[in-house]
Amino acid sequence: MQTAIQPKYNVTKVTCACGNSFEAGSAKEELRIEICSSCHPFFTGKQKFLDAGGRVDKFKKKYGI
Ligand SMILES: [Zn+2]
Repeated sequence: MQTAIQPKYNVTKVTCACGNSFEAGSAKEELRIEICSSCHPFFTGKQKFLDAGGRVDKFKKKYGI
């Protein structure tokens, strides 16, 4: 990290409700968010993945795998 090059750029610690924390540039010293790129379905694709998993299970049951 070469933060010395950007002395006016504040690094804010962002803490998400899921427990994930990361650093981002912001004027605030600390930031708390409800959802982040690690837990949001839009970013993780978890919703679609779970959906697909259910279909695979049905498929397995149907064919007795
Ligand atoms: Zn999160």
